[in-house]
Amino acid sequence: MSKQVKALVLLSGGLDSILAVKLLLEQGIEVTAINFRTNFCGPSKARPAAEMLGVKLREINIRQEFLPILKNPKHGYGAGLNPCIDCHALMLKKAGQIMREEGFDFVATGEVLGERPMSQHKQALEIVEKDADVVGYLLRPLSAKLLAPTLAEQEGLVDRAKLLAISGRSRKSQMALAKQFGIKEYPTPAGGCALTQKDFAGRLKELMLNKPDFTPEDVDLVAVGRHIWIDSSTSLDVSRDKSLGASTQIILGRNQEENEILVRVAKNGDILIVPDGWPGPTALVRFCHPELVSGSKSRNEFGMTEGELKQAQELILKFSPKAKNLKLEEIRFKIDRVD
Ligand code: SF4
Repeated sequence: MSKQVKALVLLSGGLDSILAVKLLLEQGIEVTAINFRTNFCGPSKARPAAEMLGVKLREINIRQEFLPILKNPKHGYGAGLNPCIDCHALMLKKAGQIMREEGFDFVATGEVLGERPMSQHKQALEIVEKDADVVGYLLRPLSAKLLAPTLAEQEGLVDRAKLLAISGRSRKSQMALAKQFGIKEYPTPAGGCALTQKDFAGRLKELMLNKPDFTPEDVDLVAVGRHIWIDSSTSLDVSRDKSLGASTQIILGRNQEENEILVRVAKNGDILIVPDGWPGPTALVRFCHPELVSGSKSRNEFGMTEGELKQAQELILKFSPKAKNLKLEEIRFKIDRVD
């Protein structure tokens, strides 16, 4: 009896990756899907897709490992802050390691030659393979006939004749194939990775400039609320290197839901300022460099300077449409330091 061929397929849940899985299943290959979670993409589309395809889904968290790539991508950014070549290489490197450790025969993706300007031209596909250390082991079933045969094809584990030669940005071939396979529901291509969205990328850039050692939790907050960065020269009472960026971040909720999120995500050292008895946004105050703040004599019991506290309170008032006639001296705030 011949050995069961096993493939590990990157599944985003988009049509291309669904079709890549389907083409391999049609050849009797056992498929395990794999999806990587970063701050910017996750398994929400891959889960229903794996269920529809009837394949097992492995979910791998690479939030922390993604940050160095985001800060300094070897192959640069796309139109937004998307380091697609490095991102693909990281995911495929992980997939390659799992392939070797767990006895999969090859790794596959739904990549289509020439579909995405940054990451899917021929040279980019080759760079990714090399950087991820999967040369010869990476099959792209939708474009395979336009690329060099992989080891799995050479060894007869995959029938190259049944693979495709799709290229370019038109999705007509994929849609026709979906119809042929009876796949009726699949997500539209837009709206996947937040890094490609202009608005989000702009906010993230601000975080990267002001807080170069940002964490995945800081990134989680990028899409939440209004972000105000206090300049280091005015708010810190200790001498410091200005290349470190801003000293303090103030985030104001734009609605009740965001106010609740801010309370939920506040972590040790953060300060929450909430209007006491009048309607207005919650403010989360986070020090970019807490080590420069602790122990400072000119800070109050919450760790803030009077200037910072006043600035945060003025901002809360400014963004309280229902309290625009009130004056700072007439109102009260609840202030809590999270410890
Ligand atoms: S769009 Fe986002 S998730 Fe997709 S490869 Fe680029 S950076 Fe990675």
